[in-house]
Amino acid sequence: MTKQNMPITEKKIQLSEIFTSIEGEGILFGTKTMFVRIAGCHLKCYWCDTGYALAMNSGNTYPINEVKKMIKDHLQNNTYKINFTGGEPLIQYEAVKDLAKFIKEELGLRTYIESSCYDVDRFNKIISYIDICKIEFKTKDSQAVDIKHYRYLLNNEIECLKTAIDNKKITFIKIVVSNSTSIKEFRELIEVIFNTIKCDDLAGFIIQPTSTINEPTVNRLLQFYDLVYPIYNEVRIIPQLHKIIGAR
Ligand code: SF4
Repeated sequence: MTKQNMPITEKKIQLSEIFTSIEGEGILFGTKTMFVRIAGCHLKCYWCDTGYALAMNSGNTYPINEVKKMIKDHLQNNTYKINFTGGEPLIQYEAVKDLAKFIKEELGLRTYIESSCYDVDRFNKIISYIDICKIEFKTKDSQAVDIKHYRYLLNNEIECLKTAIDNKKITFIKIVVSNSTSIKEFRELIEVIFNTIKCDDLAGFIIQPTSTINEPTVNRLLQFYDLVYPIYNEVRIIPQLHKIIGAR
């Protein structure tokens, strides 16, 4: 078969769901947001609350153009931003790139990614089409990866943070803490982060307590806060607010 005669395969995406709700995390909580939940995540955070979207074959397979139409058709008035979430959006980064480009160029809306940032090369490929980055740092007790791969994950998270800032994106950090998150490890993580970036480059620093599982006490949350505040005053402890008001 010559190249000209080869069938053109339409790009596809494995999609968990698309819905509109109230943003309940991070610096933009309270904004009307469309969530595009990409299927698949290979990390293993024990407190993950989207277990139904972790398998690579969860949700349904759609042609990219059909998902663009779904986004356009379901878009509600006054939507502040469209979130790529998961699962882990970087796994299907090419599809995210196509959709984000469409959202920015055809719909004129803000794009937002929430990611564990496990792969800076993939992050680099989508960053031009993303406006707001929530960079999630995993502590060892999350069990996201086994201990021997933790340093590799951390290095990628740091590199993604630098990439977002270098590209002048609105960038904030989120760290989920539980009652077993190590204070010592958290202190070391803060040192690494603020040895890498300047405070002025950051749009926020969110300490998010685990929800319904191994929840940290208020005293423990304040211990984490006290480690960040002397370096970065705009740190906030914010739980997942959508769960409190019964939103998705
Ligand atoms: S990275 Fe996110 S989606 Fe993946 S297991 Fe952890 S919390 Fe769940």
